[in-house]
Amino acid sequence: MADSGTDATAVEIAGAGPAGLAAAITLARAGRRVIVHEAHDEVGYRFGGDFQGLENWTTREDVLAVMAELGLSTEFTAAPGRRVTAFDARGRAYEVASEEPLFYLVERGPGPGSLDSALLRQARSLGVEVRLGSCLRQLAGEGILAAGPRAADAIAVGYHFETDMADGYWVICDDELAPKGYAYLLILQGRGTVKSCMFSGFKEEKRYVQRTLEAFERLVGLKMDNPRPHGGSGNFRIPPSAYSGPHPVVGEQAGFQDTLWGFGMRLAIGSGVLAARSLLDGGDYDRAWRRELLPQMETSVVNRALYSLLGNRGYGWFLQRYVSHPDLREALRRQYRPSWGKRLLSPWARYRYQSQRKDVSCNHVDCECIWCRGACCIPD
Ligand SMILES: Cc1cc2nc3c(=O)[nH]c(=O)nc-3n(C[C@H](O)[C@H](O)[C@H](O)COP(=O)(O)OP(=O)(O)OC[C@H]3O[C@@H](n4cnc5c(N)ncnc54)[C@H](O)[C@@H]3O)c2cc1C
Repeated sequence: MADSGTDATAVEIAGAGPAGLAAAITLARAGRRVIVHEAHDEVGYRFGGDFQGLENWTTREDVLAVMAELGLSTEFTAAPGRRVTAFDARGRAYEVASEEPLFYLVERGPGPGSLDSALLRQARSLGVEVRLGSCLRQLAGEGILAAGPRAADAIAVGYHFETDMADGYWVICDDELAPKGYAYLLILQGRGTVKSCMFSGFKEEKRYVQRTLEAFERLVGLKMDNPRPHGGSGNFRIPPSAYSGPHPVVGEQAGFQDTLWGFGMRLAIGSGVLAARSLLDGGDYDRAWRRELLPQMETSVVNRALYSLLGNRGYGWFLQRYVSHPDLREALRRQYRPSWGKRLLSPWARYRYQSQRKDVSCNHVDCECIWCRGACCIPD
């Protein structure tokens, strides 16, 4: 039952992340009464001012234009990311650049310029009732489940900090820093985040974070003032169905994520909109997300399976391939686009990539890894 009184005519949504708020906005714009329950006292609690990249390569159209077309607010700070310096495991630098933004750096959490706050403001302005500090344990009537990750298939761990370093974005592909993932450093206007984003070896997170800090100090002169630990998990899974009983499940609660690198915000937003539309027009949500989102997600599983084969030797080859491409945004778009080759590899990739709920390095029992520390109630 919800913590406070429910309204039989309202659509209830569990979770005020991008998925839940995108669903709420879509429903409210169509005139439906909506109640969003958010377990924490603020939106984006688990991110606390984190910087994240809103990827801009899976569609030809700019992501901000796509959001506007979906009827979603873009009244948040979005710094275009056109340049990234990537390093391979030997410390060799690759300058990656694009005329069109590869991504927009956005803030997550309750801050005034954040993505979460912009969607919250828009939802409230449309009459959505957002109940902060309300943990929904069960959905009785019409509703959508948008409660975020239910397992850790990857974790990103590190620090938030202030700095006098110039703005910039840096990545290191090195399994000694971030097994099967990547380490990253993002700095914007005197604030930064540095993380090891790892797909395995969670039990050793402290060691990988320490190595990540040392590598960025050595390679780019990382300087952190007032460092505050921060981390989170991601759940990457293609579900057989994204319904829980009669209720659509959206965003990471469904497992919708970019399995290659964890750029999940667009899939969260997109699935929220599709689920809301299915409630509005009585359509089949499973059919809708399979049509709109599944091809990209299946491709990203193949990408992940291939990427995890590269290892430290292969990352340099991979980076070189992208650096030399005249249109990097287009190259990434192709990387994420289904093709016959990727379809052929799909069964192998799905066999090879399994949810890390079964990861032998963490069974999540009696464990202090980042997901086990942050696990929250999940509604039925
Ligand atoms: C460290 C880190 C870095 C990331 N970087 C990027 C990036 O650069 N680019 C990108 O695209 N993606 C990134 N992601 C992924 C992205 O943050 C997620 O894919 C996205 O936030 C998922 O949105 P969501 O709405 O499904 O879930 P969330 O954003 O997790 O929102 C779910 C909400 O539901 C609430 N909730 C949970 N249970 C209940 C309940 N029972 N009742 C009520 N409320 C409940 C939670 O408190 C939470 O606020 C990153 C993730 C992490 C952890």
